[in-house]
Amino acid sequence: MPELPEVETVCRQLDPILRGRTLNRLQILDTKLRPKLKCFAAGSPLTEVRRRGKLLVLCFAEGGVLAVHLRMTGRLIWQPAADEAESGNAASMFVHQSSHATKHLRAVLAFDHGELAFYDSRRFGTIEPFTTFSEVPCAGLDPLNGELSLAVLQQLLKSSKQTMKSWLLRQDRIAGIGNIYASEILFDARISPQKTAQVLSRSECDRLFASIRKILRSAIEHCGTTFSDFQDSTGSVGSFQQYLQVYGRAGERCRRCRKLVKRVVEQQRSTFYCPGCQR
Ligand SMILES: [Zn+2]
Repeated sequence: MPELPEVETVCRQLDPILRGRTLNRLQILDTKLRPKLKCFAAGSPLTEVRRRGKLLVLCFAEGGVLAVHLRMTGRLIWQPAADEAESGNAASMFVHQSSHATKHLRAVLAFDHGELAFYDSRRFGTIEPFTTFSEVPCAGLDPLNGELSLAVLQQLLKSSKQTMKSWLLRQDRIAGIGNIYASEILFDARISPQKTAQVLSRSECDRLFASIRKILRSAIEHCGTTFSDFQDSTGSVGSFQQYLQVYGRAGERCRRCRKLVKRVVEQQRSTFYCPGCQR
């Protein structure tokens, strides 16, 4: 499932390609998407591609914004028009496909220089129009854009009796952290996933704050993590899985203290941690 770094990766790739270009047509192939989108009028130039939590937001000069939620299996793939792909400009790094593979194709956003295809095998993803960017709903604070300060983090932790792993996954406090990055952040901060949020010490809060930003930023640098479903807008995969310190390493030695990494499963989600150095 795409988490914040994967959405940011797609956002950074699409912004330079789509900025200033006109959305000529929005073709909806999946009837499930139709009710929300039937009033959206195409025909306006795109001003910016932005991220809000785990939502990718396409902002237009007129007619508002489109918020895309990839959910479990959603993918946005850029397919430049044939002449663009051959002309050797920036878009030529993208794989050109002469026709869309129609399996799991739910919508096509046709721009004046190519098409942005929305694929989604499980169909949980959404595309919704809003009047402005600030209207796009995002319950939690964004951990990277300045909304989440150390003081706010301390305040949020203080009022919760949840364990740290569950605490990090709650999207209404901090938006965008999923299963993989929660394990990595807690390992980096040397905090046990079973620890109760409200008992974190001042120095543990400091470490957690630093680790949230460090891990997410590092994942963005490596274009996200690819396990099964995530592909970026070029149809290629991220490389952060090579840098994972604890996720997926059950039974292997901890890279910090050499104890064996453990895996526990709660609500069908795996948590990986080191009982030696995460307290
Ligand atoms: Zn360890």
